[in-house]
This record gives sequence, structure tokens and C-alpha cells, in this order.
Amino acid sequence: MNLSNFQEAIADPFNRLALQHENLNNIIESMNSSRKIVRGTVVYADSQTPDAGGNLVTAIRVRAKGLHNSFVPDIPDLIKNDKVSNRIINTCMECHPVIYPKVSQVGDKTEEGQYFGASQGDVVELELNENGQLLYGRTIGFDMSYAGIVYDFTPANKNKLATWSESAAAAMSNGVKKQVGDYNINPDGTTTVAWEAKSESVQKNISPSQKSFLDKLVEELGNTGWQLKVIVTSLKRTPEEQAHVMVKNRRDDNNWWPYGKSWSYIKTIIDDTTKTPAEAKVSVKDEIDKKIKEGKLVSSHLDAMAMDIRTNNIGMPNVDKKMKQLLDAVTKTGMASFRKIEYYEGKNYASQKKLRDKGGDNRPNEHLHISVKRIEGASQ
Ligand SMILES: [Zn+2]
Repeated sequence: MNLSNFQEAIADPFNRLALQHENLNNIIESMNSSRKIVRGTVVYADSQTPDAGGNLVTAIRVRAKGLHNSFVPDIPDLIKNDKVSNRIINTCMECHPVIYPKVSQVGDKTEEGQYFGASQGDVVELELNENGQLLYGRTIGFDMSYAGIVYDFTPANKNKLATWSESAAAAMSNGVKKQVGDYNINPDGTTTVAWEAKSESVQKNISPSQKSFLDKLVEELGNTGWQLKVIVTSLKRTPEEQAHVMVKNRRDDNNWWPYGKSWSYIKTIIDDTTKTPAEAKVSVKDEIDKKIKEGKLVSSHLDAMAMDIRTNNIGMPNVDKKMKQLLDAVTKTGMASFRKIEYYEGKNYASQKKLRDKGGDNRPNEHLHISVKRIEGASQ
């Protein structure tokens, strides 16, 4: 392979993508023709990759044994023999396809929410699932030369010579090795955490007190090395919006009822299917309004200080520790009067928490519910 031709080709991101696809197709074709498990070397591993379900899994860049050499140079060779820059190494790494892990198995049973994980330099089994999607499974070997690559993604170092370490341990402890996602780790070990609203409509309704709280929360989280963005998913609802949520959720799923017995007459209204959803919403809104006048709120989201923060992006490992880290940071702000991780529908709270803390699947509507205190001088 001509290195300068290759370098020129991969400078263009479209060419890198095309190479990735070519590699991927090659692997799949080889599998379809031989019906065999193909082995691949982990060129790069990112343990914080969200999958389609919002779980954080270890996605890998893979180099299939015996299939890649004619397309993409062997990275350790480039570093050791050709002495190329970080930029070349990083773009070459990007030419390898991204593969997600299989759910792991114990015996013939799949373990829900438990995925295989691999590290740089591992040799893993690649398999096609029933949808024709390429996934990786067990680690079956180790390739020292790939484990020893020390990636440096610092933009300022892109023209510096790429490095390779004789020992995997040295490569791991090398301070320049960072994930593709860039964790914004500061020299003092803190992280720079950002917050954002899920949508523009949420963004424009964040009150001054809530904004102060969020600023303080990301600062507290940064002190603990937190690495996820804080995403605000929901704020105050109007009685009309509350009625919409209740009618929609309950009619989608007749087990859904997080509001307790004293509100079950509203459940009866929703369950009366002689009413259209629109009619049910009007009736429910009227009931909500009546109770507000008595000072009773069916949901704390009818209060201006309510706020939900996404937690279903929190992934393995140590889900329980991360949940606690988040709750502790909220407490430390001193600006919240209530905080609780909400799982599904309030029922079986303890068992859902236990499952989730072990790294199990989250429900899509899992979140951290917070009531923010009003800051002095602010109406909200
Ligand atoms: Zn909430």
C-alpha cells in the first residue's frame, strides 16, 4: 500500500466513511459466505457510547482479522516504522467500522441490560444478529501492538509524532489517552459539565431560580468528575398539559397510575372509553382546576418550581453510585427542596430501583424529579 496515497485519501471525511463501509461490507460478506464467526482486534474502545436504547455501552472500532490489511494500514506499523503524526493515526483509526456489543449470556440465558465490553487491543468475536447487524461478543485474545497505541486527540498535538508504548499499562496511564467523546477533564481532575434543555419549549420556560440551580448543579457535579450532560426534560405543566399527560399515558397503558387512591375518581373518568380522548381531557382538566382552587395539586409538575432531569442516559458500570453522585450534587447546591429518582409509575419502586442500580434496563420515562427553591427577589 502506498502510504502517501492513503494519507491523501483519508484526509477527506467522506473517504474515511466510505472505507469504513467497505470494511464493514467485507466482514459481513465473509461471514455470509463462510458462516463463521470472524475475529477482530479492538483498535479503539469507547465505554461511554449511548446505544439506540439510551444505555451507555462500550462501542469499538474493529479491525477484522485477515480482511482489513488490503484497505487500511496496520496502525502499529505506521507508528513504529513510518513515524506519522497523531492526525494520521486518528483518521486511520476512524476508517475502522464502529461495532456495538451483544447482550451477554450466562449459559443459554441472556442477561438483560448486561453487555459485553472490550478494551483496546482485545481480540473479540464478531457475529451477525438476526437483523444482519454486526455485533461483538466474547474476548478471545489479546494483541499487544494494538493495546500499546497511545492515542492523542488534543487538537494542538495533531501534528506531533504518534506514540506507541511497549506496555499496555503504560499506555493506559498515559495522560494523553482520552475518549473520542472528550470528557472535558480539567488539569485539577474536575470536569466541565454543561446543562441544556431537551427542547426549545423547555428552554424558554426555565425560570431564573431554576437557571441559578442548574448553574450550581453542574458546578457541583464537575467537582465530582461527572461526565454526562445535564438535560432538563420537563418543567411546570399547565392544567391542560397535565390532563393531556394523564389521559395519554393511561390510555396507552392501563397499568399506569402514579397518583394514589385519592385521585382515582380521575382515573375513572379516563377509563370511561365512551369519551373520546379530547372529551376526557376536558373533564380531567376541569377536575384538576377544581382541586387547584382547594390548594391540592394532582402532580407536583403543576408547581412552577418542578423540574425533571434525564437519568436514563446513565449507564453501566456503577449505576447505583452514579445515581447517588447526582442526588448528592443536588443536595449540595442547597437550592432544592425535594429530589427523587422516579422509575416507572411509582409502583414496585424498590424492585425497580434495585434492578436499575445493578445496571438493568431503565424505563424510557425514568428521571430525577426536583423541586427548586425560589431565589430571593425572584417570582419563579
Ligand atoms: Zn417530575
